[in-house]
Formats: sequence, C-alpha cells, structure tokens
Amino acid sequence: MDFINIKGLKIYGYHGVLKEEKDEGQEFLIDAKLCFDMTNVGLLDELDSTVDYSKVSETIKETFLEKKYDLIETVAEVVAREILVNYAIVEEVYITIHKPHAPIPIDFDDVSVNIKRKWNQVYLGVGSNLGDRNKYIQDAIDSLTKDKYIKDVKCSTLIETKPYGNVEQGDFLNGVIELWTLMNPKELLNKLHEIESSAKRTREIHWGPRTLDLDILFYEEIVMSTNELTIPHADIENRLFVLEPLCELNSSLVNPKNNKTVNEMLIELRAR
Ligand code: ADP
Ligand code: MG
Repeated sequence: MDFINIKGLKIYGYHGVLKEEKDEGQEFLIDAKLCFDMTNVGLLDELDSTVDYSKVSETIKETFLEKKYDLIETVAEVVAREILVNYAIVEEVYITIHKPHAPIPIDFDDVSVNIKRKWNQVYLGVGSNLGDRNKYIQDAIDSLTKDKYIKDVKCSTLIETKPYGNVEQGDFLNGVIELWTLMNPKELLNKLHEIESSAKRTREIHWGPRTLDLDILFYEEIVMSTNELTIPHADIENRLFVLEPLCELNSSLVNPKNNKTVNEMLIELRAR
C-alpha cells in the first residue's frame, strides 16, 4: 500500500517509570508511517484529498504531551489510535517511539517500540427476549456507535427466533451487527459486557431469558480460545439466526476456522 512517512519528529516529553523521567523529561523521536491508497490523490493534486502531514505531526505532538505515561508502548498505542480516529483516509498506521536517553546503564544508541494498528472488522451477534426487545437492541447499537474507537456500525434485519436450548422462555429478536474497531478482542468484550449490564442483563440461567446478549462472532481472521473468549464464536455453523443475518450483511465472509463462507455454512445448515 502507498504511504507517507514522517521520520524523527523531535518532542521533549515526560514519559517513563522513574520519577526523574516524569519530572525532568527527555527528548523522544517519533516516526509515523501513514498507509492509504494514493492513486486518486496523485491525480487530483489537492491537499484536501490527502493527509496533511503537518497536521498529523501536530496531532502526534498534542497526544504525546497530553499525559505522562510510564511506558512508551502506551504512548505509541494512544498516538496510533488518535491518528486513525482523526484521519479517516488512513487505513493503517505504524508508530515508532525512540527513547535514545532511556535509563539503561550501558552505552547504547537507541531503544524504541514499533507498533502497527488499523481498524478491524468485527461481526457481533445480538439477541433479546425480555422486555422491549427492539429498544434494548437499538440502545446497544447507539452505545456502540458513540464509542470513539468504533465506526461504521451496521445492523442486519432483526428476525424473530424460537429459543435455542431447552429453557422455557419467550421468542428472541436476533440480528448481526457489523462494525470496525480499534479495540482488541478483550477490550471489545468488556465494552459488550458494559452495554449488557446497562440493559439490566443478569446471568441466572445458561441460555436463559435475557434483555440483551452481545457476542463476538468474528474478529478479522482471528482464531483464539481462552477461558473468557472464543473467536470465532462457538456454534456459528449450527445457528440459523446467526447465519441468516450474517449472510444479509456479508455472504462471502470466510470463517477462518473452517475456511467456509457464511453462505456455504448457511446452505449446509439448511440442507441438514
Ligand atoms: P451465551 O452468549 O453463550 O448465551 P453469556 O452471554 O452469558 O452466554 O456469555 C457467557 C460468557 O461467554 C461471557 O462472559 C464471555 O466471557 C464468554 N464468551 C466466550 N466467547 C465469547 C464471544 N465470542 N463473545 C461473547 N462472549 C464470549
Ligand atoms: Mg453472550
């Protein structure tokens, strides 16, 4: 991909674990590589069609100086996110923070952290079978949309579904939400739990009635499984109420676990 490279921005800052570092400060150097498609920009020759590297440099400086952090890893994260949030055209950003005067007791040239960040495509399953189901789901979409680190939230048609599992309960309203986020999977799960709590969601019976259920179905091509989080969500291929709305949003989406498209999984499930 095309990119603009900003190298060696010199900023005097106050990041570090040691008290002296926060009190006296030191010079840091910052590199930013801003990746985006420049084919049209090259033809237009207009500043509005590209990223103004002078403004980006100002944004980096302001963000860098806003707070004193212990770790340059954190500074890099905050700077990368700020660029992606404020410059919509940038698809991917690399940030390097050099700390050539870091407290290392041996002679050295430089120490730096280098990260690459981008917006990540995520699909969520959403369901409700208690109270004002439509409102719980709409409120959830609103909370997601309002988050600074989430953009382009799109919801499928909501469908009426008979409850899954063996618990006696009301019918569900189910759908799938597509969004782009800067949050990592764990951070996103915490956000979903917050939204569920504000919908007065309680966890009494497994697979029981709930005002709101938000699950991460897919997060880019990530395949992971911890005690807290399994991605892709377990059981997608057995659930019509997940596959149908997913298909409406993106039928060619590939499940990284079995390399089947959502459409193929839906056809197979219907044929069972
Ligand atoms: P379910 O969605 O299976 O009906 P809950 O909503 O009560 O059940 O979720 C129980 C736990 O499942 C959550 O606290 C979360 O830690 C875990 N979990 C594992 N993988 C996922 C995922 N992909 N999305 C959401 N929660 C998940
Ligand atoms: Mg859930």
